[in-house]
Amino acid sequence: MTRQFFVGGNFKLNPITLESKKSLISGLNKAELDPSTEVVIAPPSIYLISVKDIVRKDVKVAAQNCYFKESGAFTGEISPKQLVDAGIPYVILGHSERRTIFKETSELIATKTRAALDAGLKVILCIGETLQEREAGKTAEVCEEQLKAVVEVLKEADWSNVVIAYEPVWAIGTGKVATSAQAQEAHVDVRAYLAKAISAAVANDTRIIYGGSVTAVNCKELATQQDVDGFLVGGASLKPEFADIVNAKK
Ligand code: PGA
Repeated sequence: MTRQFFVGGNFKLNPITLESKKSLISGLNKAELDPSTEVVIAPPSIYLISVKDIVRKDVKVAAQNCYFKESGAFTGEISPKQLVDAGIPYVILGHSERRTIFKETSELIATKTRAALDAGLKVILCIGETLQEREAGKTAEVCEEQLKAVVEVLKEADWSNVVIAYEPVWAIGTGKVATSAQAQEAHVDVRAYLAKAISAAVANDTRIIYGGSVTAVNCKELATQQDVDGFLVGGASLKPEFADIVNAKK
């Protein structure tokens, strides 16, 4: 099976007005996008439905997070069932900002992943090491540990609804992109772990995308790597160059 190239735009806590949201989406609606790339954008939750209603139909919408409970006394949370009901097909889980700022553990992220898949969502599952961990030679070990929690609660068939985003923490929002060799090496290690922990088929078929300071300038070189199946883009997803990143394989 060939893995379809995937580019996600993670808007994070941007934009902050309804007006700027409209102009961001209308720019994307006019852009020329490679039809062979799967494109997903993740606006803040307050804009999910309105973005879904105005964005072109070949671009899907993702939530940036969700809880694992369906309903109840969980102030401030949104549930996988609500996302599905609102017509939102994807959710990002385990982003390093969730892990670090909001203290989400790998176990919580695994529980959320299970709940999201059970509700019918597809999951963009983020993993990645800090600079300190990389310098200590622990990149593969850290990624494996973060994945292991999820591997333990998923069945083999679930993996067709998961995209893994390898995002080294030191590269996120810093302008310090991983070299294509560093990205390729980490992706190969993740794939080897999937083969060992689940199956050769899951290892071969699961898309592993790279995130961390991806731009229109560096995306083409990264996209030449055999195991880089696309990107999760933060800062550049708010700019016209997002279209160039979607078209990185062209
Ligand atoms: P960045 O963010 O592209 O701004 O580095 C990537 C991400 O956090 O997904």
